[in-house]
Amino acid sequence: MANGIRNKREHSFFGDVVNYFERAAKYTIHPAGLLDQIKGCNSIYRMNFPVRLNKGIEVFTAFRVEHSHHKLPVKGGIRYSTAVNQDEVMALAALMTYKCAVVDVPFGGAKGGVCIDPRKYSEIELEKITRRYTSELVKKNFIGPGTDVPAPDYGTGAREMAWIADTYAAFNPGQIDAIGCVTGKPVSHGGIRGRTAATGRGIFYGIREAVNKKDDMKKLGLEPGLQNKRVIVQGLGNVGYYTAKFLQEAGADIIALAEYEGAIYDKNGLDVDEVFKHRKKSGSILNFKKAKNIMPSGKALEMACDILIPAALENQINSGNAKRIKAKIIGEAANGPVTPEAERVLLKKGVLIIPDLYLNAGGVTVSYFEWLKNLSHVRFGRMGKRYDQLVNSTLVDSIETAVGKSLSKKNKEIILHGADEEHLVNSGLEETMVNAYNEIRETWKGNKKIPDLRTATFVVSINKIANSYIASGIFP
Ligand code: GLU
Repeated sequence: MANGIRNKREHSFFGDVVNYFERAAKYTIHPAGLLDQIKGCNSIYRMNFPVRLNKGIEVFTAFRVEHSHHKLPVKGGIRYSTAVNQDEVMALAALMTYKCAVVDVPFGGAKGGVCIDPRKYSEIELEKITRRYTSELVKKNFIGPGTDVPAPDYGTGAREMAWIADTYAAFNPGQIDAIGCVTGKPVSHGGIRGRTAATGRGIFYGIREAVNKKDDMKKLGLEPGLQNKRVIVQGLGNVGYYTAKFLQEAGADIIALAEYEGAIYDKNGLDVDEVFKHRKKSGSILNFKKAKNIMPSGKALEMACDILIPAALENQINSGNAKRIKAKIIGEAANGPVTPEAERVLLKKGVLIIPDLYLNAGGVTVSYFEWLKNLSHVRFGRMGKRYDQLVNSTLVDSIETAVGKSLSKKNKEIILHGADEEHLVNSGLEETMVNAYNEIRETWKGNKKIPDLRTATFVVSINKIANSYIASGIFP
């Protein structure tokens, strides 16, 4: 998106992920053979399939890459974009493996992609393409609740996931767990409350945890906490929108928002919901109230701010613009938004980069909860909520009678409210993101030789995957 969104990549994306892996592997003690097994992509399925559309038959190229089978099922989104190619899908599948391990989600990594611009097709055409893609996955056993479970990614959402689930179920009549073959479904079709906002919410928890570390903030010349932090977000899709919204609610100032068509800037902070509505209505982010238009969009990334959040696509901060980046913290909400060349420049400047494989793991974390819900065939909170409410209200009544004083209305509401599905999902997500940040940070701080947070995150991830192979007896 930066300079019109599609920058030519400097290197192979998968090659970059392998380099990150190898840089981190030096700080582990695992044998070379085991590291090789973790590093490579296990299965790569490239397919061409025809679909009869209004204008005639069109042949589509698509992929599904299963990177690691150390845990099953493998997991990862499906992307619809004209930039989809084998190298990209391999890189994204590998990142899924490392991402799942960092946040203790018991899946291997995978990714899928269809090389298509979804905006050029009608809804009916997209449904046909999605169903045909799914049937290609079924044919080769590249989808199933116990084998490979896709999810939304760039260019896809709950609608596509519902088509996928329905197609898979049609090929597997009577399979009781069929609905667990894909996550990110609409709540009415076996989805889970909180999944849509999950990636953005997870990014918010991750950034909040990072900026609460006094020592780290001192080094950056920043006060701890989110209050009045100047934030720039690139991408107002699902991930960018929720990230910006939650950060704003926590007191940060969203001073610029960038999209394909341009960016807008207001030093006093933009109202994220209003900008979202404005873009939906007018078709462009530009010309929002008194905000200043920034053209081209990529210039917004180079403006002075405390936290820069690329939440669109890979390769947005590269050797072309790295020198001009003024942010003190970069939160990688997208997968691979900072190239290794850019990273070298930024680390020299002392920028704290919170890496993608940790920061955007909230999506797959809640996908895991959805999958658990599908396999258990019951909504979280359904069994316990009323019972908890009864116990809590009896407790509050007894305390109020004993003390002779009433609790405030607000506190009473919080205590009496039994947890429903969304509370439990958000609580599980917060616990996951907070614990994982502290684990990777402690690994970083605990070994003076580990140069940065990304390397530390890969170290944590590699150790977990290697230990799982060792525990399984494959590599005794
Ligand atoms: N596409 C998301 C990601 O890159 C979610 C994957 C999932 O939920 O399986 O993490």
